[in-house]
Amino acid sequence: MRKTGKSIKGVRTRVAPSPTGFAHVGTAYVALFNYAFAKKHGGQFILRLEDSDVKRNVPGAEEAIYKGLSWLGLSWDEGPDIGGSYGPYRESEKLEIYQGQAKKLVGEGKAYEDNGAIRFKNPGEEVSWNDLIRGVITFPGEEITDFVIMKSDGYPTYNFAVVVDDIEMKISHVIRGEEHISNTPRQLAIYKALGVVSPQFAHLPTLRNFERKKLSKRRDPVDLRIYQKEGYLPEALVNFLCLLGWSHPEEKEVFSLNEFVTSFDLGRVRKAGPIFDVKKLDWINGVYIRNLDDNTLSDLVGKYLSVSVSEDFLRQVVPLIKERISKLSEAENLLSFFWERPSLQPELFSPHGVSHVASAARALGEISDWILEDVNNKLGELIAEKKFKTGEFYMSLRLALTGKRVTPPINESIVILGQDEVIHRLEEAEKVLVEVGARV
Ligand code: GLU
Repeated sequence: MRKTGKSIKGVRTRVAPSPTGFAHVGTAYVALFNYAFAKKHGGQFILRLEDSDVKRNVPGAEEAIYKGLSWLGLSWDEGPDIGGSYGPYRESEKLEIYQGQAKKLVGEGKAYEDNGAIRFKNPGEEVSWNDLIRGVITFPGEEITDFVIMKSDGYPTYNFAVVVDDIEMKISHVIRGEEHISNTPRQLAIYKALGVVSPQFAHLPTLRNFERKKLSKRRDPVDLRIYQKEGYLPEALVNFLCLLGWSHPEEKEVFSLNEFVTSFDLGRVRKAGPIFDVKKLDWINGVYIRNLDDNTLSDLVGKYLSVSVSEDFLRQVVPLIKERISKLSEAENLLSFFWERPSLQPELFSPHGVSHVASAARALGEISDWILEDVNNKLGELIAEKKFKTGEFYMSLRLALTGKRVTPPINESIVILGQDEVIHRLEEAEKVLVEVGARV
């Protein structure tokens, strides 16, 4: 492993998404690693919008990027929304700057006009850099031909704008996706032509799905809003992203963003494309959910339910499901029976189902003090007296009261449902089971 523990001065990193749609999880990943590197070295992390490919810009996309990164707690020190000393931070607002630099290159004979566009004259020299993740990468001079830097519409191309921007913004380290490795030789040639020392480069591995294919808009859940909607906690998603291609020096799997910053080291980033394993994300999210205190979790769960329920109710039910959910959206399915009478599926009941629900209705009707202890005792006595099989008996109660086989702890749920409602549902189940029984 390379040793990069020493603090580096003047670190400025950036993430430079194009506002072409929603906030992509890959943008969050790149932002996270840039954020960590900058913060680790006491530097700045900058957000810049590469909006010079005008046809691809989508209204609202900027906002989505701000929202997505803010949700994850990846705050930027300079950006289009908050400004900074090295702006503008939108490419579309600095066309004269690109034009000026391009003209300068033309004047020096390093670029030339071609049908209204400006083309960079490639010197054809071998280009090489020491990638902080991949080591030395070299491209032979013949591979780079002359290329357009300013289009005839007055807009710069990506390879030119990115260099001008990184120079203007005093970016010290360019940390970005590996798909840009092949762009780097052109960019280095421009740095040289402009007489500027280039930043250092580090190319992160491309995130892959289970088929080892690059995550794609069409195939994979890449929009950050999907994760928000499903009830992933931002801290958990960040923790998961940290583990993609990077490992904690003590092999820890669960750690905070601050801890990531402290232990971050580009030398620990692997080259191979990490698999975006949603099962692992679910596991991490479950850990974060269980680490929340009950009141915080209640407030969050409340936001994910389809009905509005009282705070008091949430405080009662949330401890019952805390161990059983891995994302907040799963609460609805476990809790909906509280406000929605179940539709019964008689075929799921055992042959003793009728007798279970009928005797439970009677026994529970006898309770005068509707508390957990009395419900436990009463049902325990009933099971012993009738020689029911405990598991089978409780499955009948689950099915009758909730319509489902998997539920929160049933006696606790019985107490919360209330005596009248429980007896009503048991009697309904009895009726349905008797009817079905008479038909066969
Ligand atoms: N807009 C480019 C991207 O999102 C930025 C590339 C770069 O960081 O140089 O991939």
